[in-house]
Amino acid sequence: QPAIRLEGVGKTYPDGTVAVQALDLEVRRGELVCLVGPSGCGKSTTLKMVNRLIEPTSGRILLDGRDVTRTDPVRLRREIGYVIQQVGLFPHQSVLANVMTVPLLLGEPKRVARERAAELLETVGLEVATYGERYPHQLSGGQRQRVGVARALAANPPLLLMDEPFGAVDPVVRVRLQDEFLRLQRELGKTVVMVTHDIDEAVRLGDRVAVFAEGGRLAQYDVPAAVLGEP
Ligand code: ADP
Ligand code: ADP
Repeated sequence: QPAIRLEGVGKTYPDGTVAVQALDLEVRRGELVCLVGPSGCGKSTTLKMVNRLIEPTSGRILLDGRDVTRTDPVRLRREIGYVIQQVGLFPHQSVLANVMTVPLLLGEPKRVARERAAELLETVGLEVATYGERYPHQLSGGQRQRVGVARALAANPPLLLMDEPFGAVDPVVRVRLQDEFLRLQRELGKTVVMVTHDIDEAVRLGDRVAVFAEGGRLAQYDVPAAVLGEP
């Protein structure tokens, strides 16, 4: 049973914009799938439908075989981590507190939450000694982005949806962060769907790559080598 299954999913916004059309897509458990394609071809819309931030206008979406429209929203929030480029950190909380929030909400003891947060911050390349007590406005855009990734991982959800998660990160750090993320994703066996406009990133990270085309149609869904046209 796939972790995610989209069956004939379409989305037309109320103003008539057709964002996604007749989309069939399956993501296996533990797989990292990249959605790639030009701006405006429906990648973000697809991601938002999977975590039910918006509703499809046709078709249906199954998570572990369950229709998302019949899944308790609280349960969805717990099972799906969502990282967007303009990551919303809590402005009045330190970096460490931002990452600790979800584990604390899930009932982890404070000491455990702190250790885990510290570990994840180190993983995304932010030493706790230096950055832990800073506030979001004291970080660069790329550093905030990395805190957002750490916070999403801290919740330890089985499924992560990421929209241009490394977009604001400078190119040198980005490669390190991608590698580190990939290692963690493998180790923890996370299912990940990641939106990117960067085909290099998509083929480097993705187990499979979904290539979107104008009009929100899926042009290709295959392993990186096939997407690159290699024999
Ligand atoms: P991508 O992530 O591939 O850049 P999006 O999913 O953000 O594409 O957008 C797909 C299409 O839907 C675009 O034409 C975009 O302008 C349109 N769109 C996105 N959000 C809305 C909205 N809330 N209302 C109307 N049109 C929208
Ligand atoms: P970037 O090129 O990634 O956007 P910035 O120029 O914004 O980076 O920041 C460079 C460095 O300055 C970063 O290490 C960041 O942590 C630090 N920094 C940025 N804003 C502040 C601030 N308001 N207070 C303290 N340090 C800051």
